[in-house]
Amino acid sequence: MLDAANCETVTDVLIVGAGFGGLAMGVKLRAAGFEDFLIIEKGDDVGGTWRDNTYPGCACDVPSHLYSLSFAQKPDWSRMYPGQAELFEYVKTVADEHDLRRRIRFGTAMLAAAWDMAAGAWVVTTDRGIVMSRVLISAMGGLHIPALPELPGLERFAGPKFHSARWDHSVDLAGKRVAVVGTGASAIQFVPRIAAKVARLDVYQRTPAWVIPKPDRAFAPWEKAMLRLRTVRAAFRRWLFELHELRVLSFLGNKRALAMGTKLAREHLAKSVKDPVLRATLTPDFQIGCKRVMLSNDYYPALQRENVELITDRIAEVRKGSIVDKAGAERFVDAIVFGTGFEVTTSYRHMRLIGVGGVELAALWDRTGMAAYLGIAVSGFPNYFMLMGPHTGLGHNSVVIMIEAQVGYVVDALTKMRAAGIGAIDVEARAQRRFVESVETRLQGTVWQDGGCSSWYKDEHGKVTAVWPGSAAAYVKAVKAADLRDYRLLARQPATVA
Ligand SMILES: Cc1cc2nc3c(=O)[nH]c(=O)nc-3n(C[C@H](O)[C@H](O)[C@H](O)COP(=O)(O)OP(=O)(O)OC[C@H]3O[C@@H](n4cnc5c(N)ncnc54)[C@H](O)[C@@H]3O)c2cc1C
Repeated sequence: MLDAANCETVTDVLIVGAGFGGLAMGVKLRAAGFEDFLIIEKGDDVGGTWRDNTYPGCACDVPSHLYSLSFAQKPDWSRMYPGQAELFEYVKTVADEHDLRRRIRFGTAMLAAAWDMAAGAWVVTTDRGIVMSRVLISAMGGLHIPALPELPGLERFAGPKFHSARWDHSVDLAGKRVAVVGTGASAIQFVPRIAAKVARLDVYQRTPAWVIPKPDRAFAPWEKAMLRLRTVRAAFRRWLFELHELRVLSFLGNKRALAMGTKLAREHLAKSVKDPVLRATLTPDFQIGCKRVMLSNDYYPALQRENVELITDRIAEVRKGSIVDKAGAERFVDAIVFGTGFEVTTSYRHMRLIGVGGVELAALWDRTGMAAYLGIAVSGFPNYFMLMGPHTGLGHNSVVIMIEAQVGYVVDALTKMRAAGIGAIDVEARAQRRFVESVETRLQGTVWQDGGCSSWYKDEHGKVTAVWPGSAAAYVKAVKAADLRDYRLLARQPATVA
């Protein structure tokens, strides 16, 4: 019997996060007959990535017919790679059509959670009280904690400064001198959008990225009419999936595929940038795919505008109204925008998860690096399941495919537990070790491990922990069914919710 005495809320399954992952989890749990679940979301709406990233030019870089949920196919996407507004609207529609909002507690952040062995449940501390839940599912996403560089003197800067994922729309950049720090996936989307309206744009680049053309365009009316047909949409999605799957070959180290990818990016650069000095500055010295490959048709032209300067000297100091680089040049700016990405391999440090015997996940992973069985379960943390956990990010295909595969696995595990009268399971350490070793073996020779760059796929010890070293199809197959023999059974009977 769960002791609810000290808890404001008791639920059977608690999902943390209401982006693609949390919503898919809710839909599939309900379809499997698990009605007693709650979703908590620290933001004020669903949508995750697509709620938070409102910067100019924000869009997906996987076509949305593929980058969307298989069970909620939108019949009328406007273009190949829609922008944030359309994607956000789509996620909101999924929540509404599946009547999920009444299951979501918005403005509620999970701060910590501890496994209570006697109760066979998680005691979850949120900023709005305690929740007790037999099962805890993390759908917190991988890219939601902005990474900010530590720049000497930044606190002295008198003008507006913000991260791309927290775009300050109250600041009108028109006619201003603006510095952009970072040239990652977000920066290459917003730099072209603001370059035309600012007086001056200083773009601080630490490492250039490989950029390939973005085959983006609006759908013609006849294409839209065709894509309204379910069978056509399904065939198009399948074709897009297979096409994207091919890209993994180069990332896995296939020489021919690598040469083709590199040629495509080099030709794009050569065609777009005539000045050999600028071209050299924009040419990466690592293998394509080692860092996320960018898709853009307007980034290179933007960098060649009269009012834009690409700066490769590191920032030495920020002053009240200027930035000084390590070569000693001082550039006066009115605003600073950080396109410096997210905390990925350290995001687990932002919450306290305490498992069996008082072991803290953050301390454990600080020692071992992020590691989980199938990227979903961690030994010593019973009934805790992760979506987009370690080793499950993708560089070549839609991560929604991975999320849905994980959702299917978790629902399968819970269904099998219910059928067998099992209340709690804990993955065997040896099953987890076996999985992690096989992934680490497969990472050898890949561009992520050996491509000659430092990237957010790697942790601070240089271990690649953020990416799945294989095709999306191989992962889907690996998690198709939950095998409870890989778990220790902790509670025979499901705990009864008080
Ligand atoms: C600008 C941008 C573009 C991208 N484009 C693509 C793309 O084209 N293709 C692709 O495959 N991937 C892309 N991604 C990756 C993208 O993050 C994933 O595709 C997808 O959105 C992940 O969904 P999610 O539900 O797992 O996480 P998220 O969308 O990040 O949602 C997680 C939710 O959990 C909430 N949350 C987090 N911590 C807590 C807490 N402690 N308590 C309560 N709530 C919490 C967050 O507020 C958020 O709403 C992009 C990412 C960014 C940032």
